[in-house]
Amino acid sequence: MAGREFLEVLGDLSVEEAEAIGTRQTEEGARAGRPGGGGRFDLLEELGIHQSGGVTDEHFMEEALRQARKAAAKGEVPVGAVLVVNGAVLTKAHNQVEELKDATAHAEMLVVTAAAGEIGDWRLNEATVYVTKEPCPMCAGAMVLSRVKRVVYGASDPKGGAAGGALNLLQFEGLNHKCEIRSGVRAEECRDLLRDFFKKQRVAEDVGGK
Ligand SMILES: [Zn+2]
Repeated sequence: MAGREFLEVLGDLSVEEAEAIGTRQTEEGARAGRPGGGGRFDLLEELGIHQSGGVTDEHFMEEALRQARKAAAKGEVPVGAVLVVNGAVLTKAHNQVEELKDATAHAEMLVVTAAAGEIGDWRLNEATVYVTKEPCPMCAGAMVLSRVKRVVYGASDPKGGAAGGALNLLQFEGLNHKCEIRSGVRAEECRDLLRDFFKKQRVAEDVGGK
């Protein structure tokens, strides 16, 4: 199947289905004696689907959503993030402002600082950060300073978002680095998590106030 056709087909598939096809085709490739057998990502890359784009954006956003659900379970604002380098999750975190009593403990800050520690370099040029909510100005600033290559987010934040919602710090003229942006990945699930959390919080406040 030609690469373009495969891409179009992928467009209508769930991640699981697409991955199953990827694996199947890779196995065929391996049997056909492709050098090294070829991993799923090798195959996707051959077809022009990059590890940090297309189908895999959805996949990594699911990882970020898993982190966000962890935050919700602890009573933290449900935002989760993962930082991906070379097609693999390097660091993952959820919002921990309450737990750490630290206003800077946003999920993106935690994945960025942990990744710098892992890599041993503050420059994260090869990194993609997946986050369930549009980054705030602090996190956007940190990602620009860390030279994060790409930022993929779910729910947008028109009031305070700094990735195009209220302002665009990730691509601010005059700063010496700009991050690529993809927005709206699994946005509905990301937004519903936040909505449910704040709804429950309001109910709790109403009950407490009476
Ligand atoms: Zn933030």
